[in-house]
Amino acid sequence: MASIQNHTAYLLLGSNLGDRAATLRAAVQQLNELAGTISSTSSLYETAAWGLEQQPAFLNQAVQLRTNLPPEVLLDVCLHVEQLAGRERRVRWDARTLDVDILLYDELVLDSSRLVVPHPALPQRRFALVPLAEIAATTVHPVFGQTVTELLAACTDVLPVTQYYTSEAN
Ligand code: ADP
Ligand code: MG
Repeated sequence: MASIQNHTAYLLLGSNLGDRAATLRAAVQQLNELAGTISSTSSLYETAAWGLEQQPAFLNQAVQLRTNLPPEVLLDVCLHVEQLAGRERRVRWDARTLDVDILLYDELVLDSSRLVVPHPALPQRRFALVPLAEIAATTVHPVFGQTVTELLAACTDVLPVTQYYTSEAN
C-alpha cells in the first residue's frame, strides 16, 4: 500500500485443522497484501482447544498490522482471509482451519453488533496474551489501563501455551 498507514492493530491467528503452520503462513501473507503491512509477528504457540476440549490442539500467532483500514473494514478482510483458508462456520468454537480475531486497534474502544474491540476475551485467554506479549509487551489495554505483560501476569487461565517449532522459519 502506498499511502501512510496510520493505525496499528494486533490480530490473533489460530488454526486447529489441516497443516496449521502453513495456514498461518498463508494468512500472514494475505493480510499483508489485503490489509496493510504486517510489521511484526510472534512465534507460533500450541494450546489445547478451549471450549470444546475433544478437538485437535490450536496453533496461535499474534501479528502487528500497520493499516489504513477502519476497524469494520479490517474485520471484513479478516473474515475474507478465513474464507480463503476454507473455513466453514458450523457451531461456535468448532474446529477451524483459520480464525482471525482483532485483539487491539490503536486505543480504540468499540462495542458494535459486529465488532467488539479490544477483544472481550483477551484478559482471560493465555493463548492470546502469550503471543501478544512477545510483540506488544508494553502496549496498554485501553479499558483496563494495564500493559499486556501485566494482563498476562494476572491471567488465571490454566491451559498451557507452549512455543511450537516448525522445521522451516516462521
Ligand atoms: P470466535 O472467534 O469467538 O471463535 P468467530 O470467529 O466465529 O468466533 O467470530 C464470530 C463473529 O465475532 C465474527 O463474525 C465477528 O462479527 C464477531 N466479532 C466481534 N468482535 C470481534 C473481534 N474483535 N475480532 C473478530 N471477530 C469479532
Ligand atoms: Mg474469530
